[in-house]
Amino acid sequence: MNRPVFLSSEDVETTCPYCGVGCGMTVSPKIPSTKSDSFEVKVKGSSAHRANYGKLCVKGSSAGETVDFSGRMLHPQINGNIVDWETALNDVAKTFQKTISEYGPDSVAFYVSGQFLTEDYYVANKLIKGFIGTANIDTNSRLCMASAVVGYKRAFGSDTVPCCYEDLEHADLITLVGSNTAWAHPIIYQRIAAAKKKNPKLKIVVVDPRKTATCDIADLHLAIKPGMDAALFNGLLAYLYQQNALDLDYIQKHTEGFESALQKADELQGNVSDLATQCDLNETDLRQWLDWATYTPKMVTMYSQGINQSSSGVDKSNAIINCHLATGRIGKEGMGPFSVTGQPNAMGGREVGGLANQLAAHMDFNDPQNIDRVARFWQAENMAQQNGLKAVDLFQAVGEGKIKAIWIMNTNPVVSMPDADNVKRALEKCDYVVVQDCMQDTDTTRVANVLLPATTWGETDGAVTNSDRTISIQRQFMQGPENARPDWWILSEVAKRMGWEHAFNYDTAVDIFREHAQLSGFENNGSRDFDISAFANISEQEYANLKPTQWPVNAAAPNGTQRMFSDGRFYTPSKKAQFIAITPYSPLSQPTKNKPYVLNTGRVRDQWHTMTRTAKTAKLMAHKNEPYITLHPDDASLHQLSEGDLVRVSNELGQLIGRVEISRAQRRGDIFVPIHWTSQYASHGRVDSLVRAHVDPLSGQPESKHTTVKIKRY
Ligand code: SF4
Repeated sequence: MNRPVFLSSEDVETTCPYCGVGCGMTVSPKIPSTKSDSFEVKVKGSSAHRANYGKLCVKGSSAGETVDFSGRMLHPQINGNIVDWETALNDVAKTFQKTISEYGPDSVAFYVSGQFLTEDYYVANKLIKGFIGTANIDTNSRLCMASAVVGYKRAFGSDTVPCCYEDLEHADLITLVGSNTAWAHPIIYQRIAAAKKKNPKLKIVVVDPRKTATCDIADLHLAIKPGMDAALFNGLLAYLYQQNALDLDYIQKHTEGFESALQKADELQGNVSDLATQCDLNETDLRQWLDWATYTPKMVTMYSQGINQSSSGVDKSNAIINCHLATGRIGKEGMGPFSVTGQPNAMGGREVGGLANQLAAHMDFNDPQNIDRVARFWQAENMAQQNGLKAVDLFQAVGEGKIKAIWIMNTNPVVSMPDADNVKRALEKCDYVVVQDCMQDTDTTRVANVLLPATTWGETDGAVTNSDRTISIQRQFMQGPENARPDWWILSEVAKRMGWEHAFNYDTAVDIFREHAQLSGFENNGSRDFDISAFANISEQEYANLKPTQWPVNAAAPNGTQRMFSDGRFYTPSKKAQFIAITPYSPLSQPTKNKPYVLNTGRVRDQWHTMTRTAKTAKLMAHKNEPYITLHPDDASLHQLSEGDLVRVSNELGQLIGRVEISRAQRRGDIFVPIHWTSQYASHGRVDSLVRAHVDPLSGQPESKHTTVKIKRY
């Protein structure tokens, strides 16, 4: 079968394969009546989905153009030879078993993806943590939202996004920090723009070193010095105190640690003029935002990669949360600190424990009772007892030969990891690299020993959870390539061949979702935030018809939970939220004479990750079709560069060649380069080959927004 076959010509309700907004889609396949008849998948926004109410951005609405089989991985392969599934599965099982018995469980690792469906994530996590006996599983979500997770956990005792999308319509002030929402989360941006039209009182403030497309609807743009966000929000906390705008009753009843957080903020950022200097902001603009943030009760602070991708991303997120706690602006309509995830199922990965420092179902390794509980539930044979290696450390361990077998699923770390050339070298040296993907030729499949073809969007069923805790189903509407298999199936088949048939005997994704829901409620009793026990006995029919639902979904909230912490109770031992005293730190790489520019990386509007899907549509390629480097006109003239010239960006790690784009949206001394280009599309376009592997010490998230480089005409 070399072209897709639709299951039926009926409309199918599904979920967008791209970003963490998690828009609902209605897919209408047209079944060709003859062999030469054209193949067509129409996609429109699902009017019933509360993430998007019928709207889709240009990426989502083009998804139907990307489901052909061009470029797909069509067969299992070992060392370049096509093999059958039996041979491939046996090879993976045998090699992992042999490696574990010779070198121990910590000599193997999984590296997975926020593109995974929840069921895939669950099986991968269960296999490695419960049966192989190591927590060496990490995910590309480490690069996306790991700092937000730790920020929430420090403050709330749980990884809980308190807000819902409707809060954007109820707010009177939305501060977007480190988020080019217009490009990275377009439907959220459209919701905010529509809310502003309806409510002229609504103020939008963008805090971003760049003047991005998001500023088109902003009342104020604070072009902050890169990395100074924690200082800015410390300054707001001090200002709230100085203006007598604290909610002392809330602080006293529902929080702990306020005095030390305030003392630190007041000491370091208590003077507005000094704060303006620290953040390199116009003082009048800064005062305007401070006043709005002080005197507007309904305030949402939405943040994204500009906060998270930092060597102090956790502190930045806690500096934001502190301000909401100090004013009781959380758990109420139109208020709250709202992190948005980049990937379609970064949140689902957090639910199952798909990060190396998580266990499962929002439990951690820090409590032996959690380990015991999960081990009993899984009937685990070799339960991991401690955190595994986070992404940067994991690939470091591969390079050092400590990890001898790695299984990479649905992600392309040779492009997306910081210090990407080093990651490539590490994988080239590794004894055994398995890559499971839907695409045949990626920078990472090129360094694999074994290739396993996976199904992708539209070819299988599974759950995803978006940025506001809404669980939706991605539904199958077509057959994938003949030899492609769902990720959970591949993992389960290897697990069976390693001797654990009894624990991985799943027939459908529903079997796995049911077990995942049962674990979320197992000995929970309201002690943990993630609880979807209402789905513990979900039938195939109910799963097929599952409506988008925000977790928790349990006996107390059978229809889901729109907003969290409305009762002022948190998941810390004292049930009180925790203020964190923040000392802001500068980014680790600072400009020098030899590397005077700060490289900021990010998404473009019409591309997704490493372009394997979006590059298939001419419409999306028309927006930006090659790597580019945006720089300020003064920097361009310093190097005698004109629009469209080729320029080389380099540092001690690597180099990138792209076309000059000159823009006053850029601060002087800062340059912007998109993340998407791979060796397949541009021979020197992999920007992460330049990004240093500096990480936040608490979250392990790399500082992808701040690397020093030099530039030279090419
Ligand atoms: Fe898909 Fe995100 Fe666009 Fe919605 S905003 S259609 S989820 S890419």
